[in-house]
Amino acid sequence: MQYFNFEPYALPQEAELVRAEVRDFLGREMSDMSAADRARSWAGFDPDFSRKLGEQGWIGMTWPKKYGGAERSFFERYAMLEEVLAAGAPVNGHWIADRQSGPMLLRFGTEEQRQRILPDITRGESFFCIGMSEPDSGSDLASVRTKAEKVDGGYLINGTKVWTSNAQNCHWMIGLFRTSTNPDNRHDGLSQFLVDLTTTKGITIRPIRNMMGEEHFNEVNFVDAFVPEENIIGAEGDGWNQVTAELAFERSGPERYMSSYQLMLEVIREVQRLPNPRSTVEIGRMIAQLATMRRMSVSIAGSLERNDNPALEASVVKDIGTVFEQSLPEITHALTYGEAGKDADSDYEQVRAYVTQACMSFSLRGGTREILRGIISRGLGLR
Ligand SMILES: Cc1cc2nc3c(=O)[nH]c(=O)nc-3n(C[C@H](O)[C@H](O)[C@H](O)COP(=O)(O)OP(=O)(O)OC[C@H]3O[C@@H](n4cnc5c(N)ncnc54)[C@H](O)[C@@H]3O)c2cc1C
Repeated sequence: MQYFNFEPYALPQEAELVRAEVRDFLGREMSDMSAADRARSWAGFDPDFSRKLGEQGWIGMTWPKKYGGAERSFFERYAMLEEVLAAGAPVNGHWIADRQSGPMLLRFGTEEQRQRILPDITRGESFFCIGMSEPDSGSDLASVRTKAEKVDGGYLINGTKVWTSNAQNCHWMIGLFRTSTNPDNRHDGLSQFLVDLTTTKGITIRPIRNMMGEEHFNEVNFVDAFVPEENIIGAEGDGWNQVTAELAFERSGPERYMSSYQLMLEVIREVQRLPNPRSTVEIGRMIAQLATMRRMSVSIAGSLERNDNPALEASVVKDIGTVFEQSLPEITHALTYGEAGKDADSDYEQVRAYVTQACMSFSLRGGTREILRGIISRGLGLR
């Protein structure tokens, strides 16, 4: 029987210094931003804002200086992320590149790829999307069918990716494609590629409107799209190994329990107008849960700092984080029942309306609840 490793950590002094700098910067840069826009949290897209964060050295913070990074600790990065999420800063442009594409290239990319790609990311000028899911492949990612066929000097890509967040605004996709088939092992024969979305011919990006009426994710179609040889990541056939490592980065951050933070702020403001024992208890319960998840999440930053693989612990935090976030709209509804809805234009109502609709997707993106629980039980040796 194995156990979770949530070793306790306190954020060091240098992380608190970064926090103060980030808070000060966000206070200046975001003074005009509405509560409804802040509620979009890390789904908010603003390329100028990404560039400004890059200028501060807050993208690729932990990466080597020779690639444009700042060689700061994962604890300092954690403090920066917390501030950005708590403020609801529009970080979507660079988010994926900072969180997973860059770290993936640091681990599996060639030296040439690192030098070519990473400095632009750290400047907040190069945005990435994730090309994993397909119309018939989501949880069962090993079933991807989009093909990369070897041709002279590179590969021809044919097939369709779907739910690709932010593809319409990105410069690069890291795509998982099938380079060969092994009937005895579906995990063989998958490879990841850097796909230049700005110049590659044969790629069509079609936005898919979500239930909030927003166009955030896309269908991306490839017809004989040529990707040069130098853009394969690692060895041909190594894609499965890379993707599983990358998903640990994707699930490890505080965004998995802080995407609805603005709603917590607004409901606290709302119940302050008519305080009562019930709301005191509920708010106390929310804060206690948030504080517990935060301790677990800081512990994951500690694992990353030690160069451990926190895939199991990240799955736990993501799962309980989304359960928590999806419970918030209902709790806020109960707390303000009778009062709510009187002023549909209020910050509280706008934020609540947005989070109520958006949070449905939180237990799908980044791995569904059932899949995460499968990973957790396997990690504990239970299956
Ligand atoms: C907002 C949002 C953004 C996204 N962004 C991206 C992106 O940028 N790039 C990208 O590649 N993908 C993205 N996705 C896709 C996401 O990764 C998939 O939706 C997810 O992996 C689930 O796949 P699916 O939708 O095909 O559902 P399915 O895999 O068909 O699952 C349907 C249901 O069956 C359950 N299920 C499936 N298999 C099992 C099993 N073995 N055991 C138990 N239950 C099971 C699932 O838990 C789920 O409830 C995004 C999704 C959302 C909602």
